[in-house]
Amino acid sequence: MTSLAERYAALRASLPHGIELIAVSKTRSVDEVRALYDLGHRAFGENYPQELKDKQPQLPSDIQWHFIGHLQTNKVKYIAPFVHLVHSGDSERLLDELDKRALASARTIAVLLQVHVAQEDTKHGFSIEELEPALARFKDRWPNLRIEGLMAMASLTDDMEQVGRELGAVKALFDRTRQSGVFPAAQFKTLSMGMSSDLPVALAKGTTMVRIGTALFGERPRPVDKP
Ligand SMILES: *Cc1c(COP(=O)(O)O)cnc(C)c1O
Repeated sequence: MTSLAERYAALRASLPHGIELIAVSKTRSVDEVRALYDLGHRAFGENYPQELKDKQPQLPSDIQWHFIGHLQTNKVKYIAPFVHLVHSGDSERLLDELDKRALASARTIAVLLQVHVAQEDTKHGFSIEELEPALARFKDRWPNLRIEGLMAMASLTDDMEQVGRELGAVKALFDRTRQSGVFPAAQFKTLSMGMSSDLPVALAKGTTMVRIGTALFGERPRPVDKP
């Protein structure tokens, strides 16, 4: 058995310079989060609004909380006051609500647009075909949001060629959007792809931000795909 410190060091060493690591702490205890915090890590990702709302006040205030799971509009209010980056901007309705709650909290909320490329129906997000023509319209649509890039999840499969095709398509959209100049390049800068199971593929495809749970904390005790 390796320790958290060893796994963290090994993971850090394996990531090229400039790739941001989000430690996915869903279902992990406050003590587990604090152990990684004490090793110097500050960026954590959570999937469930209620769980995040409960954990946040028990942990240091300089943690950057990333929200990475599907977000129901009626739960936005729990996290809007403090969330650092919402990766799962997956519908216009959700972005409307985030914008409203950002205003109510007197802050700008940074968001990524989630792109649906996986084969499973359960993965949320915009298809590439629907998102690309909508981007110009999205540009000034939500004055209290800052659209910083794209997020994607590949299909849950061992077929790494398929995963590579899916993530490669998202990277191509990311590059086209940056080249289009719709958003300032300094703002539209984040491509969130890659989890424990597909990290090497995501790195090969040009991710800028990876979301890693299992490879850091070990197997999760309970299933992750609850609605
Ligand atoms: C759980 C989760 C992760 C991390 O998955 P691991 O396989 O534990 O690394 C990354 N992204 C999202 C959206 C998740 O729900």
